[in-house]
Amino acid sequence: MVSIKKCDSYNYEEVLSVIKETWENMGGIEKYIKKGEKVLLKVNLVMRKAPEEAATTHPAVVRAVAQTLVEYGANVTIGDSPGGPFMETLLKSIYKHTGMEEAAALSGASLNFDTTSSLHQNPEGHALKAITVANMVTNADKVINICKLKSHSMTRYSGAAKNMFGTIPGTTKAEYHFTCQDIESFSKCLTDICIFANPVITFMDAVTAMEGNGPTAGDPRHVGVILAGENPFELDICGSRIINTVPNEIPLLKHAIERGLCADDYKKVEIKGDNIENFVVEDFKVPQNKSMYFLGKNPPKFVLKFINKHINPKPVFDHKTCIGCADCAKNCPAKVIEMKNHKPYLIDTEKCIRCFCCQELCPKKAVSVHKSAVLKLLSKF
Ligand code: SF4
Ligand code: SF4
Repeated sequence: MVSIKKCDSYNYEEVLSVIKETWENMGGIEKYIKKGEKVLLKVNLVMRKAPEEAATTHPAVVRAVAQTLVEYGANVTIGDSPGGPFMETLLKSIYKHTGMEEAAALSGASLNFDTTSSLHQNPEGHALKAITVANMVTNADKVINICKLKSHSMTRYSGAAKNMFGTIPGTTKAEYHFTCQDIESFSKCLTDICIFANPVITFMDAVTAMEGNGPTAGDPRHVGVILAGENPFELDICGSRIINTVPNEIPLLKHAIERGLCADDYKKVEIKGDNIENFVVEDFKVPQNKSMYFLGKNPPKFVLKFINKHINPKPVFDHKTCIGCADCAKNCPAKVIEMKNHKPYLIDTEKCIRCFCCQELCPKKAVSVHKSAVLKLLSKF
């Protein structure tokens, strides 16, 4: 079941009222949380961005969920493992910039500064038979997911299930990107992580979404709605309708449907609240990355080599905008970015795994995705 409620702005009174109605639609807080339980609010803090840039969960939504839980009697902590190293000093700066420091102070929640992690066996996993997870997740009695509706250069769409990738500590995320290089295995990896983290409920902030070069370099797009669901994959099926994309064109959802984790159509989802059709953004800009699919599962190596070098999209660095921070090079899972005279260069196009972490983590939007003429043509079909 998914709750859908119109929310026109981040005015706190409006957001709080919508969150209260959402809890009612979903059966009440008591259905998910016992009084006194330790609850982690897993928000999306991908990088140090101001709330109006729409890359992170808006603090008004986080504050409202936290306030309702604190008033109910839960012990609430707000946390995420953003891109880059998982360190207390970086967390402090990100919490301040994204408005989480204030959201916590005003709601009575705490902020997570525990950057430890542990390895857990995951025998049911399709891609990850063991997962290294931040201890903030496993030390909580319950996890509540509060994601942001966004486009994504690699996965096309980022919503409920993708947000749980932030339960993986810092640079281990780059290891998983490298282990699960193609989009199909990365979709399995994301699904394994979401199932392991097991959020009891997910809220989706789609008051202002991000379109275009998401998850950090795109443009804010007003949608005016807050959704919630018990099943993150089912909630994403509804999210995909809002961005006017069919689930089978989102690799993670295609995998989740095949795995029997959710319905294949939003029309099969029980919806409570407003009509989803009121919020569909017909011209929502979703990145095209068909190059990831037409290769099939095991193309011959020479074909793969040619396509990777000449056809597949690749990151391009705008050296005029670049400030030489080297975050892209430090976080590249394939280690194919070299800094020369404080500017990044892609030194091996064939080995680039097209994860676009470089674009995601660039603080200056100095990385764009270049598409060949052949790829642009293929994207039309
Ligand atoms: S260059 Fe960018 S897209 Fe390529 S592997 Fe490195 S981080 Fe990923
Ligand atoms: S992350 Fe962006 S600003 Fe920093 S070195 Fe790379 S391209 Fe330049």
